[in-house]
Amino acid sequence: MYASSSTRSTAHRIDLRSDTVTKPCAAMRAVMAAAEVGDDVYGEDPTVRALESRVAEMAGMEAGLFVPSGTQSNLIALMCHCNRGDEVIVGADYHTFVYEAGGVAAVGGIMPNPLPTDSNGGLSVEQVKAAIKPDTTWFAQARLLALENTVSGQIQAPEHIDALCRTAADHGLAVHLDGARIWNAMVALGIPLARLSSSLDSLSVCLSKGLGAPVGSVLCGRRDFIHKAARIRKMLGGGMRQAGVLAACGLFALEHNLARLAQDHANARCLAEGLADIDRLTVHPGDTNMLFLEAEEPDRAPLVAHLAGHGILVGPPAQRIRIVTHLDISEDDIRDTIDVIRQYYE
Ligand SMILES: *Cc1c(COP(=O)(O)O)cnc(C)c1O
Repeated sequence: MYASSSTRSTAHRIDLRSDTVTKPCAAMRAVMAAAEVGDDVYGEDPTVRALESRVAEMAGMEAGLFVPSGTQSNLIALMCHCNRGDEVIVGADYHTFVYEAGGVAAVGGIMPNPLPTDSNGGLSVEQVKAAIKPDTTWFAQARLLALENTVSGQIQAPEHIDALCRTAADHGLAVHLDGARIWNAMVALGIPLARLSSSLDSLSVCLSKGLGAPVGSVLCGRRDFIHKAARIRKMLGGGMRQAGVLAACGLFALEHNLARLAQDHANARCLAEGLADIDRLTVHPGDTNMLFLEAEEPDRAPLVAHLAGHGILVGPPAQRIRIVTHLDISEDDIRDTIDVIRQYYE
């Protein structure tokens, strides 16, 4: 069914661990070199300002703030929305709760209330309602609902986000959405970013995932929110000086690497289809650029090692092995990966 990969050079590494492993192309490096810069802590870097307005405009929000990472962007947002001792309601498997080194509690002094997510990575309106505690002296008070889109490659429908935001607003909670990979949802759904963010109070997007920029995220919200966010960014050490060399990559990425995310989605689908009939392997395809392989034991570690032996890197051996497509993965790489996995099971 698939052409043999005998022509593939073993020196060529296929890195499917994450969409963060991409390297800036020559054209992206050229825009870095040519970028107009200034001291951004003084608000004088024209390229940073251009990126912030561009992303804010796409998100339909008043203002944007360029920050070094998605982790810092989320922490700033949570610290803007919550005071110390306030509670944030969050999905128990969301990045803000699990993968940000506990910054929300350790740095922000904010109390997370993690809720189990459904098979699509979502929270329900009923769950959120039930999690909001009454206003008594012994309960921490929820100020924020923290959402995510995509969640492990799964799209959260805009209508559902709207419904969660209405519930939050009814109870006086703000809503922040971690949109590290929201670009993938936007391209997969074929809708403007602003449709996915229309009912949010704040949105964080990553430039360093599928978009392929080396560094950076943008936090968006109302003007007064972003003013406060800039102070907290400074507090956390995220005020950068001539950051236009980095912002230029973000602008380049929005121009050249956004629509092409559809190719990553097609590659992920092709990989999932190419493995679907293997008996001892269950493939969990996602909606976008991610899929998970559920190998039976004792295949997990040997399968990952077999792939590594062929220069193919995937997520660590676990019940579900994560695979992520991105702009440095070609259709040939996908065909080779299918061949090598099928070879393991032959
Ligand atoms: C990667 C990621 C982040 C954090 O981004 P960094 O720039 O790596 O700090 C936040 N949320 C989600 C869902 C992510 O995938």
